Amino acid sequence: MSFAVAIDGPAAAGKGTIAKAVAARFGLAHLDTGLLYRAVGARELEGQDPVEAALSLNPEELDESRLRTPEVAQAASRVASQPEVRAALVDFQRAFAARSGGAVLDGRDIGTVICPDAAVKLFVTASPATRARRRFLELSAKGHAVTEAEVLADVEARDARDSGRVAAPLLAAEDAVVLDTSEMSIEEALAAAVAVIEAALEGRG
Ligand code: C5P
Repeated sequence: MSFAVAIDGPAAAGKGTIAKAVAARFGLAHLDTGLLYRAVGARELEGQDPVEAALSLNPEELDESRLRTPEVAQAASRVASQPEVRAALVDFQRAFAARSGGAVLDGRDIGTVICPDAAVKLFVTASPATRARRRFLELSAKGHAVTEAEVLADVEARDARDSGRVAAPLLAAEDAVVLDTSEMSIEEALAAAVAVIEAALEGRG
């Protein structure tokens, strides 16, 4: 039987870290859906039409560190506002969510559009300043020459675009559990997510 965990939230709120960790803990497959949009954004930066890119996306393109740059993040957020791009990526995500062993998907519209019937929905958020600080430390550690102010501007621009778009805007599902991680350590955020998932698993008997 499938068991889908939907984790949504704004950029750099900690959803990727939580998604990876709960997937490992409960033995579920994990899909970072942001990578799909990043891969399309990267192809757009190379001059390709984003809808064509989305229709011909190859899973091997998804795990490359070249997708984790601020330029690609901005391009991803731009192409993600196009309904045709989003539509082209729906089937792949839904098929992943329906895997028999269960799956965790993290993104912006998993609980609202991709998996409205997910067994667990988490909306992971944090203040813009906290998120910018975390992403700045992450990018600096990887050797990217960015300032914290630039990262904050990037995070805020993406938040505005992701929340303001007409197609699948960033939004907590009505039945999502909201986790504000601003004042939480990674361990605390993870423990809170694990507790929600365990309760859902127990509820299924
Ligand atoms: O999560 P990540 O920062 O990698 O996502 C990059 C961009 O992809 C986001 O800013 C957002 O515009 C888009 N995205 C989306 N829907 C998703 C996942 C990501 O629109 N499910």
